[in-house]
Amino acid sequence: MRLITTTDMCQLVRHIGLDEFNARLLKNLEEDFSRWEQFHLSPRHATHYHHGVIELMPSSDDDLYAFKYVNGHPSNPQQGKLCVVAVGMLADVATGYPLMLCEMTWLTALRTASTAALGAQYLARKESHVLAIIGTGAQSEFQVSALAGVCDIHAVRYYDPDAKAMAKFANNLKGRFSQLLACKSAEEAAEGASLIVTATAAKRHNRILTRDMVSPGAHIHALGGDCPGKTELDPALLDHAKIVVEYSPQSQIEGEIQNRPEATIHAELWEIITGRRPGRESDEELTILDSVGFALEDFSALRLVNELAEETGIGQETSLIPDLKDPKNLFGALLND
Ligand code: NAD
Repeated sequence: MRLITTTDMCQLVRHIGLDEFNARLLKNLEEDFSRWEQFHLSPRHATHYHHGVIELMPSSDDDLYAFKYVNGHPSNPQQGKLCVVAVGMLADVATGYPLMLCEMTWLTALRTASTAALGAQYLARKESHVLAIIGTGAQSEFQVSALAGVCDIHAVRYYDPDAKAMAKFANNLKGRFSQLLACKSAEEAAEGASLIVTATAAKRHNRILTRDMVSPGAHIHALGGDCPGKTELDPALLDHAKIVVEYSPQSQIEGEIQNRPEATIHAELWEIITGRRPGRESDEELTILDSVGFALEDFSALRLVNELAEETGIGQETSLIPDLKDPKNLFGALLND
C-alpha cells in the first residue's frame, strides 16, 4: 500500500510544477465528469457541530473506490489551525484492498481550484480578463492559479478583512500576475470583474455579494457556502442567474440554493460537460457555479496522485493490511509469526 505524506505531496507538485499538476488534474476531472453515469455516487455523510462540520466523502467506479475525511472549522485559523484539513484513500474494487493513503489538505485545495477552472471553461465568458477573489485564506491562491490556466487573466482584484491574509496573498502571487489590486471591500473587488470567486469562511448566512455588485455577464464561482447555515451570496442573486451545481441531492442541502429552494437549477456540472445542457449562452447572462465540493472531485485527484506516484516513484510503501501466507490464519499471524 502506498503512503503519500505531506512531504511527498510537496515533492510531487514541485517536481512536475504547479501548472502541469493543475493541467493534469483538470484533464482527470473532465474525464471523470464525462463518464458520470459509470460512478456509484451519494451525498457525503456530514456530522454538524455548532462550530464546524466533519464529513466522509465516498465515490467509486467499478475499478477504484475513493473516500475522504474532511472538516470545515471556520474559527480554526484564530487558533493557528487550518479551516479545512483532509486525508483520503484509494482502493481496488476487485479485491477491496486499499492501494493508497494520501494527505488531502493540499490535494483538496488543488482539486477545489481545478473544479473552479473546469466550471469556468464552460460558464465564464471567453474574454474573462478580470478576476475578483473575495476571501484570501488558504484556498485563494490555488483558485487564482488554476483559473489562470483556463482564462487569460490580466488583473486580480482581491479583498479580505484580514490585512495579514491580504499581504500573504499578494506575496504568494507576486510575479505571476502583472496587476494585483488590493481592494477595501468586496464591492470594490467585484467592480468590473467578469470572474468572481467567493472563498470566505463563516458559519452563517452571509451576503458577501449582492446583485448590484456584479457586472452583467459575470461568472461567479461560489465555494465558501458548503454547509447548512453557511452561505455567501444574497439569495436574490440566484433569481437572476443560470445556476449550476455539482450534485443536486447534496447541493440542495449545502449550497447557496438552500436559501432559495424554489430556484431552478439549470444543470449539474457533468450535464454541461457532456453537452446534455448548454453552458453559457450569451455574453450578458449571469452564471453561478454553486460549488460545495463533491466526492467525484476527490476521486479524480486521488487517481491523479496515484498515477503520478507511479510515474515519479514519489511516495513510500507502508504496511496497514496484514500480508498472510494463509489468509485464514489471521489469529496465528497476530500471535505466532
Ligand atoms: P480560511 O479560513 O483559510 O480563509 C477564509 C478567509 O475568508 C479568511 O481569510 C477570512 O478573513 C475571510 N473572510 C471571512 N469573512 C469575510 C468577508 N465577509 N469578506 C471577505 N473575506 C472574508 O478558509 P479556506 O480554507 O480558504 O476556505 C474558504 C472557504 O471555502 C471555507 O468556507 C471552506 O469551508 C470552503 N471550501 C469549500 C470547498 C469546496 O469544494 N466548495 C473546498 C474547500 C474549502
